[in-house]
Amino acid sequence: MANRLTGKVALITGAARGMGKAEARIFAQEGARVIVADVLDTEGRRVASEINRSQAGCAEYVHLDVTLASDWENAVSTAERSFGALHILVNNAGILSLAGVEQTTEAEWQRIVDVNQKGTWLGMKAAAPALRRAGGGSMVNISSIYGLIGSGGAAAYHGTKGAIRILSKTAAAEFAPANIRVNSVHPGIITTPMVEPLAQDLRKNIASAGCIKRAGRPEEVAYGVLFLASDEASYVTGAELVIDGGYTAL
Ligand code: NAD
Repeated sequence: MANRLTGKVALITGAARGMGKAEARIFAQEGARVIVADVLDTEGRRVASEINRSQAGCAEYVHLDVTLASDWENAVSTAERSFGALHILVNNAGILSLAGVEQTTEAEWQRIVDVNQKGTWLGMKAAAPALRRAGGGSMVNISSIYGLIGSGGAAAYHGTKGAIRILSKTAAAEFAPANIRVNSVHPGIITTPMVEPLAQDLRKNIASAGCIKRAGRPEEVAYGVLFLASDEASYVTGAELVIDGGYTAL
């Protein structure tokens, strides 16, 4: 199937690499015009120009630190100015800290909350008026399996990913009258730069603990995000899409 996002404009945060980059590429292949947003300007610009060089691709890079309301205002207005509207927001940017409850410092806690949790809220707040102006749309918030289950570490990460799950549900109720759907996605271990610092043994152990005994690929999450972003998911809101190779099934 192609052209699943024809006529749509999507803003994807953290799109310079990893899963956000895969989403930007696949959304463009499916006909969306894409705002590639990140703090990694060189890598982000490269993603946008790769999309623009590819067949029928259309993308623009915007510097967006998701913790800053002023950056959000600029990103949303760039989408409307360059592409005429905004229909889809993917709150994908995120950072990881492995420290447990006792090891986490206040500064580290705040940093993770600012990017993962506040960034997701600010994104929905900034994008909602534009999605309303477009007649409705879809917000997809990237949580984690660690927003569903514990792991015995990564305290601040778990806290923020759990918050994204429930924030998505209340936003789904708030925005439904405006024809805006909001869902959360819960990836398992996916091979991206985020998990590179984890020791290879740890990555292997986590990846082999699910039903499908390997780590996931960024594209395998991006296709789930594509579904939720598209009109195919017109009756799906306030839902959790788990993409983890069956890790949480066991
Ligand atoms: P990644 O580190 O490869 O990419 C994250 C991107 O977010 C980077 O491009 C980074 O520059 C950007 N970013 C960080 N802080 C930002 C900020 N303040 N403003 C804007 N952009 C910022 O990670 P990934 O694995 O592709 O992760 C994408 C999302 O998926 C994250 O929310 C992550 O928590 C989540 N996730 C990842 C995994 C995994 O195993 N990789 C599993 C579950 C959930």
